[in-house]
Amino acid sequence: MSSKLRICVHGAAGRMGRAVIAAVMESPGLELSAATEPAGSSLLGADAGELVHLPPLGVRIEADVAAALAKSDVVIDFTRPAGTMALLDALPGTGVGLITGTTGLTRTEQDRLVACAQHAAIVQAANFSIGVNLCIKLTEMAARIMDADADVEIIEAHHKHKVDAPSGTALRLGEAVAQATGRSLEQHAVRSRDGNIGPRPERAIGFATIRAGDIVGEHTVLFAAEGERVEITHRATSRLNFASGAVRAARWISAQNPGLYDMNAVLGFD
Ligand code: NAD
Repeated sequence: MSSKLRICVHGAAGRMGRAVIAAVMESPGLELSAATEPAGSSLLGADAGELVHLPPLGVRIEADVAAALAKSDVVIDFTRPAGTMALLDALPGTGVGLITGTTGLTRTEQDRLVACAQHAAIVQAANFSIGVNLCIKLTEMAARIMDADADVEIIEAHHKHKVDAPSGTALRLGEAVAQATGRSLEQHAVRSRDGNIGPRPERAIGFATIRAGDIVGEHTVLFAAEGERVEITHRATSRLNFASGAVRAARWISAQNPGLYDMNAVLGFD
């Protein structure tokens, strides 16, 4: 049996699936054991190396999730809710850990995942970026310390194709400020400004949005006090940052008992 941690990539041909394969191949002590795509995919039977412009890796893309799990220690899932549910069908009793970043689960689907975590170790995160999770933690700390003295503004920038604003991560950072300082984000958020807006409301949490070009994703939390400013900034340069976080979570989960965990646990913030 291999001494390396055996990783199955579910949804291997997706943008994230390919980034995860590349991250696994660059990670010492990890090996790609299986790669899946749904039945009907034109890629079934192809070598997973083709997906990431590498020589053949000896891992064929397959649709049989149970067979893929049988030769793996951890499965990494960035797919669609139906893909995650197909994994949950096969996971119980295998001892395989699950890292899932799939978004958009319904309440019922989320309940199923929570129930499955009674018998399997699962890490679920809406954002696997190590840097973003660190910035959320730093923001909580800065908000507590600067609360009475500083105005808080959250500035985010993304590419021109992004349709929602503020970004989910900007709202998460706003939530971190609100929770750390006993505010309600809903009540204190100022999400747009135009015209004669009057003075800044007391304790507002302001948001500013930039949409331009091919910016992958940038977030700054600005604390502005009398005579000084603190800025906490994260800049993503590629989706490899999510893949690296997922790989770190995979290493961590292999030593955990069944339960549902998040990136705070993986990074030791709990
Ligand atoms: P994508 O469309 O490029 O890839 C999706 C992949 O899932 C495809 O390979 C597809 O064949 C596969 N798939 C779809 N249905 C499936 C099923 N029933 N069974 C197995 N595989 C199935 O999407 P993407 O950009 O790679 O994003 C995938 C998911 O990851 C989305 O939910 C996205 O929001 C999420 N995401 C999360 C994070 C994070 O940090 N948590 C970061 C980026 C993306």
